[in-house]
Amino acid sequence: MSWKRTDKLMETIKHYSKFPATGVSLRQMVQFGEKPSTGTLFRASQFLSEELPIRLAHRVQELSELPDGLNEMPSIQRVTDWYAQSFEELTTLERPSLSKEVRDRLLRPAKKAGKDSRILSQTTHNPSVKQGHNGERKAGSARRYYVAADDGQGWPPELSQYNNQFRETLDKIKRRHDSVVTTVAQGILEWKRKRQRMQIDHNIQSFLDRFYMSRIGIRMLIGQHIALTDQKQHSDPNYVGIICTKTNVHDLAKEAIENARFVCEDHYGLFDAPKVQLVCNPDINFMYVPGHLSHMLFETLKNSLRAVVETHGQDKEEFPVTKVIVAEGKEDITIKITDEGGGIPRSAIPLVWTYMYTTVDQTPSLDPDFNKSDFKAPMAGFGYGLPISRLYARYFGGDLKLISMEGYGTDVYLHLNRLSSSSEPLQ
Ligand code: ADP
Ligand code: MG
Repeated sequence: MSWKRTDKLMETIKHYSKFPATGVSLRQMVQFGEKPSTGTLFRASQFLSEELPIRLAHRVQELSELPDGLNEMPSIQRVTDWYAQSFEELTTLERPSLSKEVRDRLLRPAKKAGKDSRILSQTTHNPSVKQGHNGERKAGSARRYYVAADDGQGWPPELSQYNNQFRETLDKIKRRHDSVVTTVAQGILEWKRKRQRMQIDHNIQSFLDRFYMSRIGIRMLIGQHIALTDQKQHSDPNYVGIICTKTNVHDLAKEAIENARFVCEDHYGLFDAPKVQLVCNPDINFMYVPGHLSHMLFETLKNSLRAVVETHGQDKEEFPVTKVIVAEGKEDITIKITDEGGGIPRSAIPLVWTYMYTTVDQTPSLDPDFNKSDFKAPMAGFGYGLPISRLYARYFGGDLKLISMEGYGTDVYLHLNRLSSSSEPLQ
């Protein structure tokens, strides 16, 4: 019943980990269009069946090499197993054997993708293709992420069978990795206890940044692929998978404000949470993943509301208003969340970006289910809100900055890149 790593698998993982990951931009992901053909989905499945194992392999290597005994903590071992098992499932999934004619048709990129299809057909080596005698790669060993031409001739049933099977595998993997964030956090707690450490050092901090950033990328690719395969479920023509080509900032901000205020009222037993004023042109929209934007807004707003309530006292009749100001530039959409919650002492600023740094006395218990849907946390207490939000911002070429005036309040600047051409940041 329990799954075990074998030496052979670890060798294959090592081999894959020598290949660099291939970054994909938001715009490239959208190229697949609203209703990708069976051929295009098959091409995307093929790309992912190489790309995901490469990314998973890097993580297995890195987890196994964590310093100072951290790699041996039971929770870290569990997470390493998940990554290795998912790697195995993807690399052992059998591909259909196709006729030369079908293969040729699949290799023809769609004309309508035009100039952008060139970006999409960027090639890198394919780790599953054996090397030739003199170390050269055989022809056709390219890895591409692009839209296959739909010539209206239809595709053989093996293709959609494979697509469905691939989708099932991705779904299983995504669910297996749901509680990675809390389990890694647990592993760090185990290690801190064992080694009597108070703070995580620079090494571990940058490992966690890489690790969680990679997780965001893997889940983005998986989520996008599953959504594209299930395209029928989306009736909104502005959606391509989980990407919304017209993400409305005003509406999302309004929703995040309501949610954060609700959680705040619930947590402090307030009849009315501190007010939040939204200054935003209701028409501003851009291409983005609404789920990511909601997450960042929700986390920063919860921080502001907590600071306001705790600085001014729970029984205050009226609190100073927190403002959310949205500006639209050519390059960026910037959202400033500005509060009068007393700010943060300058010496503590570097700490707010470290994982598990929180000024909440009692960290809520680490319930493995709490982040089932992607890190949704309670009011505060895990110290993951800011660092993870900054990763989300950076993932699509944006950033998150914080400036505090101790004794008055804090400004958080959320910069979102609206050009959508920047590629995923990969180390
Ligand atoms: P958590 O909210 O779980 O503590 P975060 O990463 O969201 O974790 O924030 C870390 C810490 O940074 C908070 O515990 C708080 O001390 C401080 N902080 C964040 N935002 C603000 C803010 N707007 N005003 C004052 N302090 C803040
Ligand atoms: Mg927080």
